Amino acid sequence: MSIQHMIAIHGGAGTILEEKLTNEERDEYYEVLKKSLEVGYSCLDEGGTSIEAVSASISVLEDSILFNAGRGSVFNSKGLIEMDASIMNGKDLSAGAVSCLKNIKNPIYAAKAVMENCDHVLLCAEGAQVFSKENKLDLEPDEYFFSTKRWDQLVTARKKGQITLDHSESIGTVGAVAMDSKGDLAAGTSTGGLTNRVWGRCSDSSLIGSGNYANNKTCAVSCTGTGDTFIKGVSAYDLSALIEYQGLSLEDSSRLVLEKLKNNGGNGGLISISAKGELVLNYISKGMYRGYKKDKESFHMGIFSEMIEVK
Ligand code: ASP
Repeated sequence: MSIQHMIAIHGGAGTILEEKLTNEERDEYYEVLKKSLEVGYSCLDEGGTSIEAVSASISVLEDSILFNAGRGSVFNSKGLIEMDASIMNGKDLSAGAVSCLKNIKNPIYAAKAVMENCDHVLLCAEGAQVFSKENKLDLEPDEYFFSTKRWDQLVTARKKGQITLDHSESIGTVGAVAMDSKGDLAAGTSTGGLTNRVWGRCSDSSLIGSGNYANNKTCAVSCTGTGDTFIKGVSAYDLSALIEYQGLSLEDSSRLVLEKLKNNGGNGGLISISAKGELVLNYISKGMYRGYKKDKESFHMGIFSEMIEVK
């Protein structure tokens, strides 16, 4: 029996200010979100796996300058672009992740290569770099990742002595979750981290169970927001555990996870698809770039409370 396949994506959550976003900017975001959904959904439609769809959708977001992942990544305290990503297959719990990765065009493909070709789950810094090169991943020079906007964000954060989430500038970490026609779930997350973060810091986006998790028994989930709070709450796994051990619905579980995040002083959101085919795109921040597609005809996308449907 073929199951209804579907994909959901996010492009970060946080203190995005509605009044600061022009219609033109909004359209630009929607255009990239739509392209990402289109690529992921077509992959599923053609019989591709949820892992293939999730990584393809994320690579589109990583290639855009608009989001804090891949090309659009933010700078750390040393003025370096170092990226994190993870991916997990709900079918067999196989997973791969990379942290503090430089000059790799699509960190999500590096995470996928770790999942497929490495005996370990998480590789970081130089080792992750060498592994990525050995696995023939596309490389880009420093200039590809540089933008004046990002540099100015670092200068401002340094002046204020702050480590900042990237959302006040309306951009963020990216992620995708999918269910393929066999009912297999997958989740992926990719980030440039926080502006002015300490050199060597690993994000929740690179940690299986914190910012990313998938299990066919429960759900696939990708998170975005104040990563260190997600790490302390083991939030992505917490969502799965609430479904597995408490038998809660995806909606109720996601509310509990986000409530806990808030009580721990965190901020952000998550997207998730459950084994039953439920879908949530929930956040406690002012907004979250997000979208989903579960049929050939329409795309659903939103930034603030309203979602639009585009044919
Ligand atoms: N969670 C990411 C981090 O802490 C940031 C984000 O989601 O935008 O690096």
